Amino acid sequence: MERDQPPAEASRCPICGRPTPADQFGFVECACGWGGPGDPVESARGLSRRFTLLDRRLATRIARRELARIARAKRAESASSLLYIALLSALSALIYLVIGALLVGSIFLLAQYVMQGAWLGVALFSMIVLYLLWTLFGLPSRVHGIVAPSSAYPQLAATLGEVASQVGVKPPKWVILHPGAGFYITRRMLWGRALTPRVAVGVGAASLGQMNDRELRAVLAHELAHDQHEHSFFGRFFGGAESALFNIIDAMHGGIETNYKGRTARMRSSTSSIGALVGVVVVWIATIPLRLLWLVFHMIRLRLSRADEYEADAVAVECYGAQAFINALTAVLATAETMRGARVGIRQEMAKRNNPNFYSELRRHYAELPASYLGPMRQKTLRGYRTLEDSHPITPDRVRAALALGAPEPPATQPAAPAYGVIAPAGSADTETIELQLTRLLFDGGRKRRR
Ligand SMILES: [Zn+2]
Ligand SMILES: [Zn+2]
Repeated sequence: MERDQPPAEASRCPICGRPTPADQFGFVECACGWGGPGDPVESARGLSRRFTLLDRRLATRIARRELARIARAKRAESASSLLYIALLSALSALIYLVIGALLVGSIFLLAQYVMQGAWLGVALFSMIVLYLLWTLFGLPSRVHGIVAPSSAYPQLAATLGEVASQVGVKPPKWVILHPGAGFYITRRMLWGRALTPRVAVGVGAASLGQMNDRELRAVLAHELAHDQHEHSFFGRFFGGAESALFNIIDAMHGGIETNYKGRTARMRSSTSSIGALVGVVVVWIATIPLRLLWLVFHMIRLRLSRADEYEADAVAVECYGAQAFINALTAVLATAETMRGARVGIRQEMAKRNNPNFYSELRRHYAELPASYLGPMRQKTLRGYRTLEDSHPITPDRVRAALALGAPEPPATQPAAPAYGVIAPAGSADTETIELQLTRLLFDGGRKRRR
């Protein structure tokens, strides 16, 4: 990629001092691991800086190899050899065995406490048993969004049907309209709605105002492409093992750490905080074998999870073109950023204009932003710093891969229409009522969701 001499004013890497020109996509990164202006590694010092840079370089090596493969083959597909699948299966089985052993041990202790009548122990171990069951099997949980069969939104159902036939899958029958920005596909119990697990597509209503209909199709194509492998037997088996183990480690740490923090805040008695600190160290040491197991599994599964993401992206690019896909990706990211940074400001605007609809106010907010601001803002949200911890490629790499596929841009048959009208419910001429409902959901809080 060293076709051009760095221009005289090219920024220098603040870590190693080498000149670092932007690549042809406008992204800046340095071979030493620096990921461009604003990279948090700039403020890190000593060992933590060295560790972060090492992590970056290793992750970058993996990313470069993947991107080179995609550019060469002009396609992205999860190459999974039999040996690789066998290894992942064996490790997953080991993880389930460990969790099973923890479960059996906890049930045994619970029985002991019940017989002794030690009710504190009974309460504690009932909770542990329930938690282990939850990590293994999952329990229905309330969805922060409006759950409905896709037929409740005729335009969205038609779009989903069209995208599904392009991708070559069955369209999902359930839709979760949620007040945020992201899109996802999930297979879950829809509490109170459907008693068996259903495939549902999550639609972030806030992003719709920044997309046209083709961009919406591209993002839906990505999600529907996920459906094929994420809900396959192996996908669920491997993914389930990793997240179950992660939840257990997280819970062990969370339990002791909240104790510790709570205590130091309430009473500054040094003996109890030292006791809690010892507890933290003990739990940390006790979870080392579990953490090692998780780390090994995570590193091995990385290849599959990253390949899955590239593959889903490639499906979207092949169906709707790289430009529509990249625009959709940036629309979702920029909206997520706005929801984090400007939500309160937009709420104040709503009050000032006496507009009860957050989503129409959000569209007005974007329409009033100057184009000179929008472009750089979108470019900024497209940033990402590589780390081995991530099971997904960073956004700049997804953009690079999308362009490297060299898929032909489909001709625009008709002018692009804004996408937000697609969630108009059956029998309703516009989106006002549904957006008011989503506005209430947005500000009434509800639990925070990942993804
Ligand atoms: Zn550098
Ligand atoms: Zn994805």
